[in-house]
Amino acid sequence: MTLTLTTVSCLEDNYAFIIGNPVTREAAVIDVPNAGPINAAVTGGNWRLTTVLLTHHHWDHVDGLDDLDGRDNLRVIGAKADAHRLPPLDLALSEGDSVTICDEDAVVLDVSGHTVGHIAFYFSTSGYAFTADSLMAMGCGRLFEGTPAQMWDTMQKLRKLPPQTIICSGHEYTQTNAAFAATLDPDNRALRSRIEGIKAARATGRPTVPSTLALEMETNPFLRADQPDLKTALGMQDATDTAVFTEIRTRRDNF
Ligand code: ZN
Ligand code: FE
Repeated sequence: MTLTLTTVSCLEDNYAFIIGNPVTREAAVIDVPNAGPINAAVTGGNWRLTTVLLTHHHWDHVDGLDDLDGRDNLRVIGAKADAHRLPPLDLALSEGDSVTICDEDAVVLDVSGHTVGHIAFYFSTSGYAFTADSLMAMGCGRLFEGTPAQMWDTMQKLRKLPPQTIICSGHEYTQTNAAFAATLDPDNRALRSRIEGIKAARATGRPTVPSTLALEMETNPFLRADQPDLKTALGMQDATDTAVFTEIRTRRDNF
């Protein structure tokens, strides 16, 4: 059985995700930018929300928690390493821990870089990875706390998931990410066709998130820092993968 996935637009450009067991109607939400749209999606989908999964401590991922309907009965799960700066947790987890959510097992990955202590949740049966501000559609989160080497480790860890994995990231930054990717990788055909799809989606207000890992591997420069064609395009064919990743991140910061 596959959990039902609902993408919920929140605030200016954030996404929360609701996963639900279609048989029991139990549901969980991943990140809570603000409560209104999530409460509406839970009610509209006829879900029974029991669980909140938090990826990292930034306000735009946690601030809606106390305004969720039925807040007092919700089980809140987040990173043990960040327990001191997250809302109070009922369950604190670390890399490699697993937890059963809506009758499906999820495993925790440490995906530090954007923050140190950022985690992702991977549901292998349904094939969902909730990566928030680590791996994003054609991008990765800005390095507020971690080093480029740390984020590059995170990218390599996420690359090992099955290619069909559905990457659920935390923001609608895809158009800017795409425009940036095109500056590095102008001859990448997969990238050019993805950009057309993104333009069409945004023109009608549709989210470009989630995407698949396979598509990210072809088009996301942050996953491709070790690829000879990209290194050559940057004039860095002899540089280390970490140096190339660092250069890509720096260029994106200044884009
Ligand atoms: Zn963040
Ligand atoms: Fe964020």
